[in-house]
Amino acid sequence: MIKKILIANRGEIACRVIKTAKKMGIKTVAVYSDADKNALHVKMADEAYNVGPSPSNQSYIVVENIMKAIKDSGADAVHPGYGFLSENSKFAEALEAAGIAFIGPPVNAIEAMGDKITSKKLAAEAGVNTVPGFMGIIADADEAVKISSEIGYPVMLKASAGGGGKGMRIAWNDLEAREGFQASKNEAQSSFGDDRIFIEKFITQPRHIEIQVLADQHGNCVYLHERECSIQRRNQKVIEEAPSSFLDEATRKKMGEQSVALAQAVNYASAGTVEFIVDGDRNFYFLEMNTRLQVEHPVTELITGIDLVEQMIRVASGEKLSFEQKDIAMNGWAMESRIYAEDPYRNFLPSIGRLSRYQAPLEISEDTRAIRNDTGVYEGGEISMYYDPMIAKLCTWAPDRNAAIIEMQSALDHFELEGIGHNIPFLSAVMDHPRFISGDITTAFIEEEYPDGFEGISLDEKRTELFACIAAMTSYLRETRKRQISGRMRPAGAPYESRVVQINNSKFDVTIQSIKGGFNVALGNKTQHVETTWRPGQTLFAATIGGAKIAANVTAFSGGEIIKYRGSTSKVSVMRSDVAHLLDLMPVKLPPDTSKLLLCPMPGLIKTVNVEIGDEVQDGQALCTVEAMKMENVLRAERRGTVSKINAIAGDNLAVDEIIMEFE
Ligand code: ADP
Ligand code: ADP
Ligand code: MG
Repeated sequence: MIKKILIANRGEIACRVIKTAKKMGIKTVAVYSDADKNALHVKMADEAYNVGPSPSNQSYIVVENIMKAIKDSGADAVHPGYGFLSENSKFAEALEAAGIAFIGPPVNAIEAMGDKITSKKLAAEAGVNTVPGFMGIIADADEAVKISSEIGYPVMLKASAGGGGKGMRIAWNDLEAREGFQASKNEAQSSFGDDRIFIEKFITQPRHIEIQVLADQHGNCVYLHERECSIQRRNQKVIEEAPSSFLDEATRKKMGEQSVALAQAVNYASAGTVEFIVDGDRNFYFLEMNTRLQVEHPVTELITGIDLVEQMIRVASGEKLSFEQKDIAMNGWAMESRIYAEDPYRNFLPSIGRLSRYQAPLEISEDTRAIRNDTGVYEGGEISMYYDPMIAKLCTWAPDRNAAIIEMQSALDHFELEGIGHNIPFLSAVMDHPRFISGDITTAFIEEEYPDGFEGISLDEKRTELFACIAAMTSYLRETRKRQISGRMRPAGAPYESRVVQINNSKFDVTIQSIKGGFNVALGNKTQHVETTWRPGQTLFAATIGGAKIAANVTAFSGGEIIKYRGSTSKVSVMRSDVAHLLDLMPVKLPPDTSKLLLCPMPGLIKTVNVEIGDEVQDGQALCTVEAMKMENVLRAERRGTVSKINAIAGDNLAVDEIIMEFE
């Protein structure tokens, strides 16, 4: 058995691997870049080695640096996690040459599956359904147009070396095929150093459903059912679940068996994932095989009870699988929400900064429900610009899909994150969305349901009343404590003199009465019974209101409370009635006019400024390019105008909302 594992990765996945290694009594070695010297995975491991400066291409993905850490630590095996070196066959070869066990598949399997064109050919030979298309390299734009029209629009242009959603474009006509070909080629060259492009049919209204496979070095291979990952933005997954609400037993079996056939065709050993795209008639087509542990593997672990990392370690040690296909359970339903440092109100652009607050819901594992949270961060830690902006993977499990969704809604309500932009409001909104709840989802879900981007969930009458009630309660409890401190405590049971709660354009008169075991909150002409143990200073308000359990985020400001709950954020004022009366007479303060300014939408580096002072720009014209988290974003003019001032030059690092240029 392996004795000491070096984890060639960072963040949540490094922590995840360390947990299982510890459980198995195996020693662990972390590697870290300069930016990560205080990271959680470093604290969790038995030993840790610095492998270089912060950018991953100078540390985590430099094979020699990792090889040196292996030598220095005396590790006898390496787990690569996902991303970084996990699908790098040169790294696997270097390990083999050094006699170190690679906790992953054999070199030839990584090579065969690492290329989308090669893997598609192999899949077709192994009897796996593939997306109709042209399995060759496209020479130029003319050929791209010719082949696209032969396949029939819409088509998808893809980088053969692609991954992480990069180098991919949809084309609906000849013009888009021509333009998309060049754009994909450029992106593929800059991201992967390999500009080979191929074209396949774009499957409309598809679902992304993938099969987890597990094989040993003795020719045994099983599938651990499917995961559905249709909720995607920019072709990248955000919410995953297992099983899929769409598959029937026969389709599941066919997909599972084809996946096993493909794995066996390349003598696969270890855990791997075969990704499919499934159309509305349950026709399924092979997309690619990921020869590594997948980000969303926890949902499979939750329904099968199998620890995939443990199995990968056992397989790499040469053990045989201890179970057969018929032994693999499919129990209940699991959901995963990827919590990202990205701003859903700004088209999901990455956000960086310090986690001034990070409190995850308690992990539990009971007979009828479970909550699991995989993370690599802690309160006070920093989300840097160097790596993937994923903060945590929050998973819930329950006997059926509806119950798993309800668990997730509540778990998200209890997640407290401050200091950075994050997507919890968006995840909550999806978990509350009737179409998501019904299971009627496709990879176009986010685009179709939030065509203008996510703007937050507006307050309906019920939620307005809920927010008013919460703000009244918290202000009451804050005032009560102030009175206690100043020794001006009122006699028990005396009614809280009435207050006015204002939320958007609604106003309520409230009175609160403390009674045995709770409070009576009279809001207008409705009275609710509220029970809570909330204390001033806490940022999570958990309570039972009118019999229903709720948890909301609360932050006081002078004059009221900012409340965040299930995708809605609102500033609620609480005041004495005489103040409310005077407020009506105050002029309304208008927000500043930013229509003549170009603001930096995210923290980033100015790559180019394309205009000069005095230039007249047209609607849609590129003004400048900002690079953030390895993505280049072109900022365009929203209307015609003349540039009057430019505040930034190429090479400047700007914070969010800094003014890049001004117009007349
Ligand atoms: P999964 O299907 O497990 O989500 P992805 O293909 O989205 O896998 O990639 C997993 C992680 O690795 C992501 O965080 C992604 O950013 C990173 N990644 C994968 N392949 C590449 C690549 N070729 N270039 C850059 N990052 C990649
Ligand atoms: P990556 O290596 O970036 O993960 P994939 O080939 O797995 O690339 O595709 C990523 C996502 O893009 C899929 O999950 C799916 O949503 C979409 N996609 C890929 N190919 C097609 C296709 N032919 N038709 C429709 N959607 C596709
Ligand atoms: Mg993929």
